[in-house]
Amino acid sequence: MELAPLLYDLAYLVAAVLFIFGLKFLSSPRTAPLGNSLGAFGMFLAVIVTLLKMNAETGIIGWPVILAGVALGGLIGGVMAKRVEMTGMPELVGLFNGFGGGASALVALSEGLRARGAFVDPDPANIGDIVFPIAVGTSSLIGWVTLTGSLIAVFKLNGVFRKNVFLPGQNGIKALLFLGCLAMIGGLVSTPGSVALMVGLAVAACVLGVLFVIPIGGADMPVVVSFLNSLSGLAAAATGFVVSNNALIIGGSLVGAAGLILTGIMCKAMNRRFLDVVFKAYGGGAAEASGEKRTVQGYEAEEAALVFDGARSVIIVPGYGMAVSQAQHVVQEFATVLEERGVDVKFAIHPVAGRMPGHMNVLLAEASVPYDKLFDLDEINSEFSDCDVALVVGANDTVNPAAKTDPGGPLGGMPILDVEKARTVLIVKRSLSPGYAGVDNDLFYRPSTMMLFGDGKKMLTELLMAVKEL
Ligand code: NDP
Repeated sequence: MELAPLLYDLAYLVAAVLFIFGLKFLSSPRTAPLGNSLGAFGMFLAVIVTLLKMNAETGIIGWPVILAGVALGGLIGGVMAKRVEMTGMPELVGLFNGFGGGASALVALSEGLRARGAFVDPDPANIGDIVFPIAVGTSSLIGWVTLTGSLIAVFKLNGVFRKNVFLPGQNGIKALLFLGCLAMIGGLVSTPGSVALMVGLAVAACVLGVLFVIPIGGADMPVVVSFLNSLSGLAAAATGFVVSNNALIIGGSLVGAAGLILTGIMCKAMNRRFLDVVFKAYGGGAAEASGEKRTVQGYEAEEAALVFDGARSVIIVPGYGMAVSQAQHVVQEFATVLEERGVDVKFAIHPVAGRMPGHMNVLLAEASVPYDKLFDLDEINSEFSDCDVALVVGANDTVNPAAKTDPGGPLGGMPILDVEKARTVLIVKRSLSPGYAGVDNDLFYRPSTMMLFGDGKKMLTELLMAVKEL
């Protein structure tokens, strides 16, 4: 028995175990950095072993080309990682999903083309003759959908493309395209390597990806982003079958499964059924501002600071505006100063706050806010009625009572943080403009609400100075 194949398989097994432990450690913020390193090391091992294996078995890989690719990819990745602002992370993650899907689809395409003529007369009794074309077709379908869907999601996240587009009969067109894709995958089984079928599949899947994401928007984007993440993993797993690579099959399946679990969590957070998000597109029309003239109580930091005088409990509610203004460090300092004065301070984290799953947890961890101060929506909601001040820093949709009062609106049915029940709600943001879902927020006009208008970091710094002087 040859030793090399055994070693390759052993190395893949180690890589798979590292992926699994990496995912396990990622489930807690405390152990997440270790999880990240384990996963990255597992991937490094898998890539090196694959290169050695391919080189030994087929000799088709030229090392200069590989090293040039690694250098170029590493340079682009390094520059992107250095340059990207924390607020740009959601788009970067979206791009990674899309490129992952695109890469899988391209590998499937090239392998499909390379194998042309290999199965001149496919034998249905030979499982290999069937699995390969199905894997090529599946990887193409999921990969191209992921690429174009993710690109649209990136444009929606960065605001370039905010409109939610509904074409007449859109769901019917999507169903037809999907069935057409399945038929073309079936066609690939009888005529593997057919250029017409592979190109047709690529075009149909690309259109499907666009049609899948363009109608969805508003508060439902987290569900789409998580689902695309899952699809990128499933595309990689299908490609693993195309190139017979166990590490890719396992790694892709893990990403796919983790993404599906995250999609479930996001659906729960939004109180939506997944199929409703995809076919009903709640995020559709942004609600119009009422146009009614209402009074808003705007304050200076020195005045607003007075509400903390004698306060016993304060709940801080961070949102996307905290990320934009990078206010997390001053928010942490503010919480520490209050605690030194005997105030009970907690942080309320809405599962879809910010622009990516876990966005607020990452920012607050960066500012060294202890994990035991962070509470999920379910844990904290009952505490707002006993709380003296709910300090809302750049959150909007996640505290918008329209989720309850307007069931048919874009936020309708989404569980929100019940800040309105606190004795005083102090909201820090720059204006009265709505949040991501485009829904006017009645909370700004309530008698118990105080607005502190301005950039989050600037206003929190002023508030901190004023509180220190109380
Ligand atoms: P929102 O997007 O609802 O609101 C953020 C608020 O921050 C805005 O109203 C804005 O008001 C304010 N803001 C912006 N810049 C600043 C600044 N420099 N200083 C202070 N305030 C600022 O945020 P939420 O976190 O409450 O809700 C997240 C929304 O994003 C949800 O609808 C969610 O579904 C969606 N989403 C979430 C994703 C996820 O995975 N978590 C992914 C995609 C979308 P103003 O301009 O007046 O300052």
